[in-house]
Amino acid sequence: MQMPTSLRRTKIIFTLGPASQSEEMLEKLILAGADVARLNMAHGNHEWTRAVIRRIRTVSKKIGREIGIMMDIKGPEIRTGDLDAPIELKEGEIFDFTVRPGDRDGGVEIRSVNVNYQDLVNDIHVGDIVLVDSGLMRFEVLDRKDNHIRCKVLTPGALSSRRHINLPGVKVNLPSFTEKDRLDTLVGIEEGIDFVALSFVREAKDIHQLREFLTAHKSKAKIIAKIEDQTAIANLDEIIQATDSLMVARGDLGIECPLEDLPVIQRRAVKSCFDQGKPVIIATHTLESMINSPVPTRAEITDVANAVYEKADCVMLSGETTVGKYPLECVQVLDKIARRIEQEGPFEFAEPDYVDSDKLKLLHSAVLLAHQMPGSALLTFTRQGFMAAGLAALRPALVPIFAITNSVETLRQLRLLRSVEPFIMPLGSEPNHTIENAIALLVNNGSVQIGGKLIVATDILTADRLVDSIQLRTVR
Ligand code: PEP
Repeated sequence: MQMPTSLRRTKIIFTLGPASQSEEMLEKLILAGADVARLNMAHGNHEWTRAVIRRIRTVSKKIGREIGIMMDIKGPEIRTGDLDAPIELKEGEIFDFTVRPGDRDGGVEIRSVNVNYQDLVNDIHVGDIVLVDSGLMRFEVLDRKDNHIRCKVLTPGALSSRRHINLPGVKVNLPSFTEKDRLDTLVGIEEGIDFVALSFVREAKDIHQLREFLTAHKSKAKIIAKIEDQTAIANLDEIIQATDSLMVARGDLGIECPLEDLPVIQRRAVKSCFDQGKPVIIATHTLESMINSPVPTRAEITDVANAVYEKADCVMLSGETTVGKYPLECVQVLDKIARRIEQEGPFEFAEPDYVDSDKLKLLHSAVLLAHQMPGSALLTFTRQGFMAAGLAALRPALVPIFAITNSVETLRQLRLLRSVEPFIMPLGSEPNHTIENAIALLVNNGSVQIGGKLIVATDILTADRLVDSIQLRTVR
């Protein structure tokens, strides 16, 4: 009982950067099966953003394969200020982080750096840990005063300008959708992005705020909530409920949470997304060694395989495709691992609690029927993507979901969903013709063979109305 080998269920996201943004490389990556391109707005300016989005669309058109575009907005970020020269910190040294100018006891003998987070002194506590530069330097808070916190250096290093600060376990009191995020998102909306990924989501309210903004600007972009800290983990279920999909952002999670908790958090996030019928992305360090090496480590292979076994919708590349030497090989390696692991079990199929409406029960039955027919495929028709998303959320293990849509925007958003293979075709008013046309399209492009079985989940027209239905069709 195997899926056709030409289809990969797990989707691949790659991050754009100097290594991947040329027309030639984009063409190679899209042809190799990359499904979604991610723009990391921590690095890109607006001119670059507009240029690369237009380039992706042009290349997609040229090669006849449209992909999704995700704008990853930076969210709240705490950074150190500018320094004339890097400060070489020694282990055990006393060091201050200041939020305002003013006197400090100890005066000039105690070295310091400014921080862009005014409430730092209120929100942090003695004994808390401050991490700087992706956790490379560690400090313990000894004292807090009106305009600074005083720390002891636990892990030394060279502190340079504008370094990222993490405060594990501290409920950071910064707006989740910043002014920069607003401006970036507006550019994305103008350029027709398909997804907005919101960094450092802490509660459902953060998602509601972004959704209001998107609605107010008439954008249909889907929201991806990036969970990156302990507050997000504490509020995981409400975040999943509010968002369209979730990203397990393992880079910052690995700094904000105990390292050994990461696999536990990943597994819980994937399971909670399944329980609520939402897509989930596993991000960061998937093939990190391939930034410099043409082959992955054995541990990376196993990590990617684990995400596929867990039935995540997507695996994501970051540095591997922004600055790495082997962007194409990374996509090829992910493709290979995913295809191989997808041939393995377990192929059990559950009914999550949210499947309670007539429509969802019907979709569930369609997947069940498909699972009972080895070698079959699901076929659905979808203007906005709901039917396909409903089927994908059930994580059918054995069958692909062919999703026919008349909207290129929907097709691009469907690229994120596990097992969904979307196609563009006009959707006529007579359902039977539309089904016949879709089957002809699937036969012509080699997706199904004559004699193959299709489980069709769609509306049919009765005398006076449309009725949800499941049909079993043999391809003729
Ligand atoms: C991460 O932290 O894993 C992540 C994807 O976020 P960013 O790359 O924006 O830090």
